[in-house]
Amino acid sequence: MQTPLSLDAIYEAAFLTDGDFKIVDCNCRAVEVLRALKKDDLIGRKISDFPSDNEPGADFPTYFQERLTAVPFVVVESRFSRHDGSQFWAETVAHRLSENAHLITIRDISARVESFQRAEEANERLRAAIRDRMEFVSNVSHELRTPLTSMSYALTNMLRGICGTLPGKAIEYLERLHVDVKRLMTTVNDLLDLRQMENGTLMLRCHYIPLGRLLAETINALKIQAETKHQTLQLLPYDCERYVYADHHKLERVFFNILSNAVKYTPENGCITARLYEQNGFVKIEVDDNGIGIPAHALPRVSQRYFRVGEHIAGTGLGLSIVREITELHGGTFKVESPVPNTQHGTRITISLPVSQSPNTVIVSDSPHFVEDIIAKLSPIGHVFQTAALNKTLPEQLATGKTPARILFDGDLPDEQIIDAVCKIQRHPSLSLVPILVLTDKIEPLVKREYAKWRVDIRPKTISPADLCDLVRG
Ligand code: ATP
Ligand code: MG
Repeated sequence: MQTPLSLDAIYEAAFLTDGDFKIVDCNCRAVEVLRALKKDDLIGRKISDFPSDNEPGADFPTYFQERLTAVPFVVVESRFSRHDGSQFWAETVAHRLSENAHLITIRDISARVESFQRAEEANERLRAAIRDRMEFVSNVSHELRTPLTSMSYALTNMLRGICGTLPGKAIEYLERLHVDVKRLMTTVNDLLDLRQMENGTLMLRCHYIPLGRLLAETINALKIQAETKHQTLQLLPYDCERYVYADHHKLERVFFNILSNAVKYTPENGCITARLYEQNGFVKIEVDDNGIGIPAHALPRVSQRYFRVGEHIAGTGLGLSIVREITELHGGTFKVESPVPNTQHGTRITISLPVSQSPNTVIVSDSPHFVEDIIAKLSPIGHVFQTAALNKTLPEQLATGKTPARILFDGDLPDEQIIDAVCKIQRHPSLSLVPILVLTDKIEPLVKREYAKWRVDIRPKTISPADLCDLVRG
């Protein structure tokens, strides 16, 4: 066979083989790399005599043969045996020259593989250290949560006057303590949530949430903090209530983190404005402040865990990472801009959440008059209504359609049948979280107790439209 090129012109260990991968020629580098004494030690042997037991090296010829019919060359990384029996990591490239000729080059990549393995081991040690740290942090957080909850409970009671009238100075101290305890509780909950997000065990308990109302409540909870800094903290009027299908507590934390940042990073007499609107199928919550702003270089990193811009104001650097991760878990997006567009200062945080169709309230009744009355009373809240008859298959029927936001029973229906339906609904995996309301004017104490057992809300049929709306909005 004619050698098509001078093998010694190739830097790598190079072998010319016949169609069965038997070596017919090789270069000096091949003798060196395979630790042979002379070319004749190698010529006449098959390439498969050298590879060690690593797949696909164990069966090089078949492996190469199969692939070389489709592609001009094949690359394999595997352990390779030298002439003296020792092994090394090799990158073997097989080229098909003709029907009965192959060119094989072998490069020793042991140094690269070993440094990659060392990097992998170091990475694994790092991952284990991070896991240990998170484990430790979440264990400590767990331990802190119970005492913090009881401290918060005790402080709330004292502030409500359970120990009698307290001197003004004592109230002032208790209020400050309460703010600090609540802040610690938020951090503890953030850490526990992060842990769950990290190992994929965070469960969202979703309902239809009226966003305007939740935003207004969060703003209310931060009013005292803003007032102490003489800041204006306001929610601009919005055209109508917007619902998202989301976890109430988690979303509350999102709003709380954003708004408390705005209060925290805005100096005295500053102004914080929240806006709620709908755009392209998303509900947007936009919070602007005219505070210290975020430098451009830090903007891409503010929602990374533990990232903080300066050390002058206390914080853990977890708030915005929680905001981003919870928002994304809900299929939404998070955006931070600084300065606020068309101004010279401040920060704008925008959360976009997929808007859900109007929630549906199921009215279970056989009286058209009752149904009409309820729909008239609830018309301001923009729910969609669905009526259903009370029968044995009601839970299955409800579970096959869109999950109801609330189920409302006409209390004139037989109590035992309502209780039976309620019990099946609450045991149904996709309906167990749906709040149930019974409107009735006559109720036996025993039946009342039974309803209470199933967490059913009972209200008189004469409930005012405003109270019913409040109740159903949740
Ligand atoms: P915490 O975990 O207590 O919320 P934090 O407020 O420092 O701590 P993040 O809420 O994650 O952490 O915010 C990260 C950083 O982004 C903050 O340290 C701050 O520098 C910057 N930042 C966030 N919101 C604003 C804002 N509205 N104005 C200016 N800087 C902000
Ligand atoms: Mg924060």
